[in-house]
Amino acid sequence: MSFSAIKGQIGPINILKKYIEQSCLAGGYLFTGPQGIGKKLVAKTLAKTVNCLEAGLDSCDACISCKKIDNNQHPDVHIIEAEEACEIKIEYIRQLQKEINLKPYEAKVKVFIIDDAHNLTAEASNALLKILEEPPKNSLIILISDKQALLFKTIISRCKILKFAALKRAELEIILKEDYSVEKNLAHFLAYFSEGSFGTALKFKDRDIMREKNKIIDSFVLSRKGGFENLSIQNREEVSGYFNILATWFRDIYLIKVGLPHSEIINFDRRDELLRSMSEFSFSDLNEILSSISESILSLGQNMNVKLVLHNFSSIIQH
Ligand SMILES: [Zn+2]
Repeated sequence: MSFSAIKGQIGPINILKKYIEQSCLAGGYLFTGPQGIGKKLVAKTLAKTVNCLEAGLDSCDACISCKKIDNNQHPDVHIIEAEEACEIKIEYIRQLQKEINLKPYEAKVKVFIIDDAHNLTAEASNALLKILEEPPKNSLIILISDKQALLFKTIISRCKILKFAALKRAELEIILKEDYSVEKNLAHFLAYFSEGSFGTALKFKDRDIMREKNKIIDSFVLSRKGGFENLSIQNREEVSGYFNILATWFRDIYLIKVGLPHSEIINFDRRDELLRSMSEFSFSDLNEILSSISESILSLGQNMNVKLVLHNFSSIIQH
């Protein structure tokens, strides 16, 4: 994908284009911002643009260099990432150090993209710091992270920081409808549920997420039995997802009660039921339920027994 085809990241893209235009693009960059909003895509497009045989301010996506990078087959463009949220160990950075000092095989600029850079170990961070202090000419190191606070301050200080923002929800809703032919209600739900994260919305786009979320709401909220009887509770992450859905439901009731426009409702497909539920809950009920949902998600993340978490939550909702 070229810069011109990437949605919603005009700010950072224009900065990068300016650097390319002024030929002052080199060294270390840090792309920060929420997950799933296109940081890695922009990094890859940058790698393509600086190496594109058409040599402009955007990738052509047709030349052999662009194609190789798109297929992760370019010998001078490396993406370093830890497997499944593991650490990025020093071996990766040692390899980078070796590679970066070699003459490029075919590229104009060697590019190293380190995804989820907050997973670098202390040892790896220190090794990387040495490289960032004096990066070889015609090399580019791009760190990507949605958790900047976990990165070493010394690493951050060696990088030019580019901040990426989530898309506006209404903007994402339009893109989903127009560019991905997503049905109206689904596009609305996805844009709001994913909080403007394009990647998250696309991940759920082809799943029957409307049916799934409505099943969760039906079996839990509307039955008022406070149970997940019809749902699988084997997988901790999945249960955490149930709580995220429940949060959208109670958040909607809250927002209706405070009189926000109905277009802001996440579960717009069920607004009639939401309106009916409004009188059942006081603001303090809703506050209690919403904070209990946050606590439940936190507890699940801290490995608390799933059944116990559900039991605790049930006792709140059944009041
Ligand atoms: Zn090209």
